[in-house]
Amino acid sequence: MRVLLVEDDEMIGRSLKQALEGAGWSADWVRDGELAQSALGDGGYTCVLLDLGLPRQDGTEVLRRARERGDATPVLVLTARDGLDDRIHSLDLGADDYLLKPFEFRELLARMRAVVRRRDGAAHSLVGGGALQLDLTTREVVVNGAREALTAREFALLHALLERPGAILSREQLENRIYGWGEEVTSNAIDVLIHGMRRKLGADSIRNVRGLGWRVAA
Ligand code: CA
Repeated sequence: MRVLLVEDDEMIGRSLKQALEGAGWSADWVRDGELAQSALGDGGYTCVLLDLGLPRQDGTEVLRRARERGDATPVLVLTARDGLDDRIHSLDLGADDYLLKPFEFRELLARMRAVVRRRDGAAHSLVGGGALQLDLTTREVVVNGAREALTAREFALLHALLERPGAILSREQLENRIYGWGEEVTSNAIDVLIHGMRRKLGADSIRNVRGLGWRVAA
């Protein structure tokens, strides 16, 4: 799954990007509000980590414009500002949660899972329904009650498909949900991923719709 990291502090940004990637996220890092705005416009993010004090455009402005455009990507505000007004303002603008710096990375990951899960409409860590469910905490898939471990990319792919079961996602849409900037994507990367997942989950788990893309059963 991809996360957009918006942070102008070099040290915090670098260590967060590294830690997020270590935790299986693809992290795209931008250092100012205008770049954040254009990255969000490209879409594909599961979640945004947003600093408020940013050059060129304040974090609250990034958030306000994104919500105005109808962008519903979960946003977790990361801020050193201890002002209550800032926090209330960002929540009112549509932030899903906030975390005050400094914070423990484990707590950040837990809050990211929580905002993603709420967006998915799940009250607990399992998302999806029917034969396939994803456990956001363990990154496992639950197939008819049995658990299987997934790689970070397999997990991201299945999460994208399970968001709207029955809907067809194209190769480009899937690539956009899985790979961050600068990650090399071979032309058959998606096919290889899906081939591996069908071996784990059953041949019918992910259906190919010729010429259009892939879907999971509704
Ligand atoms: Ca800042």
